[in-house]
Amino acid sequence: MNVNQSVPPVPPFGQPQPIYPGYHQSSYGGQSGSTAPAIPYGAYNGPVPGYQQTPPQGMSRAPPSSGAPPASTAQAPCGQAAYGQFGQGDVQNGPSSTVQMQRLPGSQPFGSPLAPVGNQPAVLQPYGPPLTTAQVTTQLSGMQISGAVAPAPPSSGLGYGPPTSLASASGSFPNSGLYGSYPQGQAPPLSQAQGHPGIQTPQRSAPSQASSFTPPASGGPRLPSMTGPLLPGQSFGGPSVSQPNHVSSPPPQALPPGTQMSGPLGPLPPMHSPQQPGYQPQQNGSFGPARGPQPNYGSPYPAAPTFGSQPGPPQPLPPKRLDPDAIPSPQLSELPPQQKTRHRIDPDAIPSPIQVIEDDRNNRGTEPFVTGVRGQVPPLVTTNFLVKDQGNASPRYIRCTSYNIPCTSDMAKQAQVPLAAVIKPLARLPPEEASPYVVDHGESGPLRCNRCKAYMCPFMQFVEGGRRFQCCFCSCINDVPPQYFQHLDHTGKRVDAYDRPELSLGSYEFLATVDYCKNNKFPSPPAFIFMIDVSYNAIRTGLVRLLCEELKSLLDFLPREGGAEESAIRVGFVTYNKVLHFYNVKSSLAQPQMMVVSDVADMFVPLLDGFLVNVNESRAVISSLLDQIPEMFADTRETETVFVPVIQAGMEALKAAECAGKLFLFHTSLPIAEAPGKLKNRDDRKLINTDKEKTLFQPQTGAYQTLAKECVAQGCCVDLFLFPNQYVDVATLSVVPQLTGGSVYKYACFQVENDQERFLSDLRRDVQKVVGFDAVMRVRTSTGIRAVDFFGAFYMSNTTDVELAGLDGDKTVTVEFKHDDRLNEDSGALLQCALLYTSCAGQRRLRIHNLALNCCTQLADLYRNCETDTLINYMAKFAYRGVLNSPVKAVRDTLVTQCAQILACYRKNCASPSSAGQLILPECMKLLPVYLNCVLKSDVLQPGAEVTTDDRAYVRQLVTSMDVAETNVFFYPRLLPLTKSPIESTTEPPAVRASEERLSNGDIYLLENGLNLFLWVGASIQQGVVQSLFSVSSFSQITSGLGVLPVLDNPLSKKVRGLIDSLRAQRSRYMKLIVVKQEDKLEMLFKHFLVEDKSLSGGASYVDFLCHMHKEIRQLLS
Ligand SMILES: [Zn+2]
Repeated sequence: MNVNQSVPPVPPFGQPQPIYPGYHQSSYGGQSGSTAPAIPYGAYNGPVPGYQQTPPQGMSRAPPSSGAPPASTAQAPCGQAAYGQFGQGDVQNGPSSTVQMQRLPGSQPFGSPLAPVGNQPAVLQPYGPPLTTAQVTTQLSGMQISGAVAPAPPSSGLGYGPPTSLASASGSFPNSGLYGSYPQGQAPPLSQAQGHPGIQTPQRSAPSQASSFTPPASGGPRLPSMTGPLLPGQSFGGPSVSQPNHVSSPPPQALPPGTQMSGPLGPLPPMHSPQQPGYQPQQNGSFGPARGPQPNYGSPYPAAPTFGSQPGPPQPLPPKRLDPDAIPSPQLSELPPQQKTRHRIDPDAIPSPIQVIEDDRNNRGTEPFVTGVRGQVPPLVTTNFLVKDQGNASPRYIRCTSYNIPCTSDMAKQAQVPLAAVIKPLARLPPEEASPYVVDHGESGPLRCNRCKAYMCPFMQFVEGGRRFQCCFCSCINDVPPQYFQHLDHTGKRVDAYDRPELSLGSYEFLATVDYCKNNKFPSPPAFIFMIDVSYNAIRTGLVRLLCEELKSLLDFLPREGGAEESAIRVGFVTYNKVLHFYNVKSSLAQPQMMVVSDVADMFVPLLDGFLVNVNESRAVISSLLDQIPEMFADTRETETVFVPVIQAGMEALKAAECAGKLFLFHTSLPIAEAPGKLKNRDDRKLINTDKEKTLFQPQTGAYQTLAKECVAQGCCVDLFLFPNQYVDVATLSVVPQLTGGSVYKYACFQVENDQERFLSDLRRDVQKVVGFDAVMRVRTSTGIRAVDFFGAFYMSNTTDVELAGLDGDKTVTVEFKHDDRLNEDSGALLQCALLYTSCAGQRRLRIHNLALNCCTQLADLYRNCETDTLINYMAKFAYRGVLNSPVKAVRDTLVTQCAQILACYRKNCASPSSAGQLILPECMKLLPVYLNCVLKSDVLQPGAEVTTDDRAYVRQLVTSMDVAETNVFFYPRLLPLTKSPIESTTEPPAVRASEERLSNGDIYLLENGLNLFLWVGASIQQGVVQSLFSVSSFSQITSGLGVLPVLDNPLSKKVRGLIDSLRAQRSRYMKLIVVKQEDKLEMLFKHFLVEDKSLSGGASYVDFLCHMHKEIRQLLS
């Protein structure tokens, strides 16, 4: 089969094919005889009836027919000897200093209804009518943007001035979403109310083929910045005659694909010329708050002649790279007065993420993405679209940095565009899309190439009348086994091609035979072990009681396979402080029994029978245990905990039971008790920006990696829920979850009343989500390229196999490819990702994803088919791994250099000749600078003063497994104005750019980045809005830091709360709401996420970074 041909529509796989028994799927899913194949994961993708309505606590359960009544309270359940080992009398150490930890004030009682979490489809907007021009955006178009770019004049305090007296603000912040605590007295300079001009993004009127940087036709005086070709209906925002800079620009017509921006960096306005006809004084605020001196890039930009044709005095050679940290920040007072009148680029004239996202939604969100054609660039992750699998894997499973890759390694090296795929093998699909079909080839197992072991796929070529097939990966000719033989039609295609998923679809599963199982034995169903810290901190905060209460109901919603009535997963329970307590919850017992293991140095599992049980069979005993645990430890004084022995115990228990599984650890403190893996507090912020900073990200001891390796061998995945009051060394504690494919959740300064909604939502989703256990992933490629590097939460013991003790539907593995030979334009390049795993019912399966890419001999084809969001995902992961080994500054420099090389190569090889003063960006990469800047100034690479070492390690770990949609919103948050759109509108309001100057003080905004959620209230908000949303009569009465909106019966309240719920449902973690008032001290927290602005930690603004990038490119080209 020619992979380039488009596959005809696939008929439904409904017709039973008696010859191929596996195809009906009658053996699983409980749909025997049904003509419609069962969806293996239907139970997880669909809603769980009834559960979401369950109140967070107190769900009572009918007692089983056998078993004792639940024990009431503190009655000791088992022998006094055992109990006494950890009883109060033995406690030597009283409450530690952690007890006196500063507590952040709780702001509001927990009160809003629980948002449904977990099984929500990620699709919010309805799919519109089909549009026939969906691919139009892949056509590049020329555009040219000009505008005077120069550092802004020091403004009169419109938000970028020097710190004002507001720095005296004091008090502590409420317990915030991601970052639990913030130092006091570090309030940023706050902008003044009148500094919010209320600029909205320009109306989207221009067709996408043309310049998308059209400044708004109206909207006050703007920099006359555009010289691109005029389209009907377009107009420019200012008189271009007043732009002397544009004279040097070449005529804009017949531009090559790409985005040209000149002026800003190009021919600069005469720096010291007092008369600048094109630039009006900005005191009217129309351009938003003007910026003060930009310390990071302060020294190069004043040197106007560096940038363009402007004659000037000889300049010293600029440094090879600007180092934001090395350049002293010029104080306002030190600047020569002339520089204070310099002008800034018009933010509307530089590529807007919002515009790109909206254009893609409009152009590609209305008709399904059909995967039959090789090398198609899918819609953006921010666009809602349906996928029809016609031979290539859905972009929900695989996204690539480019869908057209260079034929030779020389070309690839020249372009410096990383060739990578972000793979999410078990991605959840929206309900409209079917999960992969499961194919059963019986005892013979899946058909594979004898040489390279690739699995049968639509790209394999059948020859010799169907008796042989040629491997599309290695070209080996293989015999077709007799039972798989089928005739070919006149085109050489098997006549049963469309009846077989593995011959017609991009994604499908095979049932694995015993050959694919450990020790040649089919696996047992996996087990979940809940391991609960019952030290003083865990008890005191109410965590243990909350958790035990929740587990009583949550255990009924363990993952199930297909139509199974109950989950096959067995459960076990351990509690611990500096010793471990195992529980026998065998169904025949009247009461649970506890066994204590105090020899943590040599961990063993004291019981086998009765430790891992079926929930239904042991319901009464489990329920009794969960009632008793909070009571048993209610008076504990034990503050010390162990950690490694706990995981060791869980892993040993799984080993003894000969099954894979998952440990859920609920842990509160730095494990300082004497035991393997004992840690010390080594937090040292003084290491930041030194060569030793990397040690903050490295584990303290090797014990954790050793343990992780053992866990992977056992298929023991670890999910870690942390509830720290202070430093717990996330960098070390997260090693095992990271290497076993698990997740880490962190709730700093946990308080039940403030944080239970977030914790319980995360817990429910985590326990219920589909997981593959004991998994191995291999990515095969056609000759010419191969997978060389991998990023994600997994372990590798060789260079090709990604080992995952567990893999859930949220986790991605990013794979980088390099050439090892020449690729061929005709045959393209193929990827096949094969994931071998054990399902939650204990079935061994192979999930296969195939993707065909184009190959090119022209660099322009590469740049035309790139996906910036995926590039950023790769680059962030690359950088976040780099900080383990290199100084953070070196990592940032590497990113900047690579980005400049990518763009310089485009300019040199793909763009038509134009003035050197123009910045020309490929259409597909026009957001690369803004997004890269967000990565550079993220907490891991450039932390602010309020970011703790644990926060950085936590985020670093999270990003490692993120998919493209998650990294996109994490690095460039969504900012949604709430009162602009009609109240009856049910769709999400269009976002605005993440910059303070986009905020109107008469509006309210939601900001989310996948982890944090803010509601920002402008100081001039209408009283009616305040009343409708907060049930108070004025802005001043709104409680800053509020965590829940009151439930009010009016349209606005319903709309905003509904929007919050829907934002939460789109994300894999619960986002806790924080209400922020304009001018309030909490606003600093919020402004951290306005990523187009200069950050307090020294991160460049978008405009400045673009200037910097342009300079880097020009240096490479000169
Ligand atoms: Zn092969």
